[in-house]
Amino acid sequence: MDIFHLSSEFAPLAKVGGLADVVYGLAKETAKAGHTVEVMLPKYDTLNTSFLKDLKIAYPDLISYDGPYQQHNTIWAASFEGIQLWLLESHHPDHFFERGKIYGCPDDLQRFIYFTRTALEFLFKREKAVDALHLHDWPVALASVLYKEMYLPLGLKVGGTVFTVHNLEHQGKCPQEQLSRCGLDFFRDMQDPVQPHLLNLLKGGLLYSDFITTVSPTYAQEITHPVGGCGLHSTLEKRQKTFQGILNGIETTYWDPTTDPYLASRYTLENYVKGKEANKEEIRRRFGMRKKAAPLLCSISRLVAQKSPHLIKYALERALELGGQFILLGSAPDPLVDLEFRALQQKLEGNPDVAFYFEYDESLAHLTYAASDMIIVPSLFEPCGLTQLISMRYGTVPLVRKTGGLADTVFENQNGFTFEFPDCEGVKWALDRAFDTYFNQPRTWRRLIQHGFEADVSWRKSAQAYFQVYERFSTNLKKTG
Ligand code: ADP
Repeated sequence: MDIFHLSSEFAPLAKVGGLADVVYGLAKETAKAGHTVEVMLPKYDTLNTSFLKDLKIAYPDLISYDGPYQQHNTIWAASFEGIQLWLLESHHPDHFFERGKIYGCPDDLQRFIYFTRTALEFLFKREKAVDALHLHDWPVALASVLYKEMYLPLGLKVGGTVFTVHNLEHQGKCPQEQLSRCGLDFFRDMQDPVQPHLLNLLKGGLLYSDFITTVSPTYAQEITHPVGGCGLHSTLEKRQKTFQGILNGIETTYWDPTTDPYLASRYTLENYVKGKEANKEEIRRRFGMRKKAAPLLCSISRLVAQKSPHLIKYALERALELGGQFILLGSAPDPLVDLEFRALQQKLEGNPDVAFYFEYDESLAHLTYAASDMIIVPSLFEPCGLTQLISMRYGTVPLVRKTGGLADTVFENQNGFTFEFPDCEGVKWALDRAFDTYFNQPRTWRRLIQHGFEADVSWRKSAQAYFQVYERFSTNLKKTG
């Protein structure tokens, strides 16, 4: 089969969060199974091309459109771990992908609509059928609308489109004019249910794709109810027969404490105590923390409302009260949240039991997973969550709120600690039990770690579920010739 992914992120080249890890992990597993896998993403100026050994121009001048105007683009090609990558360099006068960041520009909608339209233009002009066009989140949701309304009638052959919801909160709402700029007329069914004067790109993806997935079974249930559905629960309900929650995996060769190049010391289940101690030593050295016979709790997270930053703060304070140490690795796009955490850092300046790092840093994230004894994930909602899966693989016990994918992967007293409500009481309840177990029940602690180590968090099982979806499409393509 030939699977073509359209995505705004792809690890490790262009990553903001879990979306990047998931597209990379699923694509790699699909390629390993012998399928042809292609991924197209924008060639951002921030893109880390050092990973690409054979990067070259494949299509020097691909013409695409913005309103009535022709636009020039260069398509770059590279292979990466068995995956064919296509990178779209736009020569649009607005320099859509030269902004020093992936998201957070006032014209994000226009940038990603342009990317999506140009990607379909690429698929159309290269005249090669694909079995599945796999779309990820709002930035590329419009592809299924464009395909059905514009490119299918022109003759583009795609077996089927699958749309994966990684996070329903971000939907991409725009006025009609923006859609008109890529040649689409008014679509009443794309009208946003909350702001009816706007069109909703994600809703378009949900309505026009042949199959919809989301990244865990519990999140799939949550978003078909008014409380979790962000206004789109009834749209999803209508699609129930072609909607499935498939749990994410992680790429287990990339996240592997036995081979991880970013660690100060690599380790297995057999020698994890020594391995963790050496990595902890490295963290303490870097951040000026003292040596202490106490657990190190971490948070590795975007500091946005979804992740309950106030509860992360509370967990930090409680961990210190309980005699532990804490490292926070997190970036806050909202200046107010950023300020709040920097004030906390200032308040705790000189405290040898706490460390803050407010940037995105891939290698430090690896080291932190390896050095920590526990991770706190108190999310308000969590479509799947990867940090608890990565943690388990590194022998780090997850303390999570029971929601979405966290509820599907962390089980009380088996591989971690859970709490029901996203409030300080809940966090306290989990932390107090975790610290008590760490200090007073070493055998139980070791058992938790062992279960984490032994859990299959790979893509193996989940990829099978995606293959079944792709296979239906492949049959469609054969039928239509
Ligand atoms: P989300 O996609 O909502 O951010 P996930 O748990 O699905 O949450 O994925 C988060 C990913 O981002 C993980 O791979 C995690 O290690 C990584 N991450 C989060 N914050 C940072 C940071 N400051 N530096 C490096 N990696 C980070």
